[in-house]
Amino acid sequence: MQTYQDDIALLVTTYLDAYFLKRDFHETMKLFGKPLTGFGTGLSENAFQYDDFIRLFKRDFAEAPEKIDYDITQMVTHQIKKDLATAACQLNIKTTIMNQEVRFNFFRLSLIFTKTDQTWLIHHMHISLPTDAHEKDESYPIKELEERNLLLEKLVEEKTRSLNQALKQISELAVTDKLTGTFNRNRIEEDLKKEIQLVNRYHNQFSIILIDIDHFKEINDSHGHMAGDNMLKEFATILKDNIRETDLFGRWGGEEFLIICPETDIADACNLAEKLRDAIATYPFTIKNKTASFGVAACLANDNYDSLINRADQALYNSKRQGRNRVSVAQKS
Ligand code: GH3
Ligand code: MG
Ligand code: MG
Repeated sequence: MQTYQDDIALLVTTYLDAYFLKRDFHETMKLFGKPLTGFGTGLSENAFQYDDFIRLFKRDFAEAPEKIDYDITQMVTHQIKKDLATAACQLNIKTTIMNQEVRFNFFRLSLIFTKTDQTWLIHHMHISLPTDAHEKDESYPIKELEERNLLLEKLVEEKTRSLNQALKQISELAVTDKLTGTFNRNRIEEDLKKEIQLVNRYHNQFSIILIDIDHFKEINDSHGHMAGDNMLKEFATILKDNIRETDLFGRWGGEEFLIICPETDIADACNLAEKLRDAIATYPFTIKNKTASFGVAACLANDNYDSLINRADQALYNSKRQGRNRVSVAQKS
């Protein structure tokens, strides 16, 4: 006598033959009903809708079109109700994908069936592979590994991106003057050393302009430190707005700034300094009108960092001594 178990077992083997041995999409599809849901072994293989299921199923056929040999090592079926049954199977399968023999043992398949008009149809399918046990003749579950790799790569990519961003922020902070937002002393010193190296190697010319605000102390003394800070910011803005893109500019010290003018001779650097002096002297500062003194020096063939800075400093000192609000040029040493 044909039992319900035989019915279900027959249905399972009909399905397995159509799906694994014949690799016949249409014949397999006839065994599915609606609604239809399923889970495959891959991360993205979740089908909560009929159309998702069909899409994944088609992809599965396209990716592995060859016949798949199977052995059922376990099968348990249950008829839960007159028209509802389940099957839990464990299989060993073997096929060829892209000329590679692929073998999976302990391939697990769960199926849920309903019976309508004397016909049993599949409504849910779940496939899984053990990730911890593999026999010698079995290739590692490649697909799962690939998907896991993909996920890891994504995570690494995201982490790398945020680390790079943090690194960029830290690098910027390390070379930026907090108050004025211009380059800080470290950075402008580094730039200056590089420019001097270039002069030594290629004999090109450049000049520097050292700027010191006149009687700045009185701003702090009569208006407070905060007002002094704001004035320093205003100074930085005026200077930045009046130099070329290629000029390098930073805060040298308390109320001193340094501009490096690449490819610029002493005459052009003086012109720029004079323009800056005028821009400052005529600028309507928030608190009080202000002036600055300038020392200009061109880098000479025998200059090093100290000698160049000393000459610019000396020129600046001359501007102060001669009454401030002026530009002085360094003597050739
Ligand atoms: P001189 O014309 O001779 O240059 O006069 P000065 O008053 O500008 O010169 P001095 O070097 O005596 O004073 C510089 C002042 O700059 C003293 C210091 O308190 C102030 N200063 C330096 N750094 C800052 C800062 O970050 N914020 C404020 N508010 N003041 C600063
Ligand atoms: Mg000073
Ligand atoms: Mg000063």
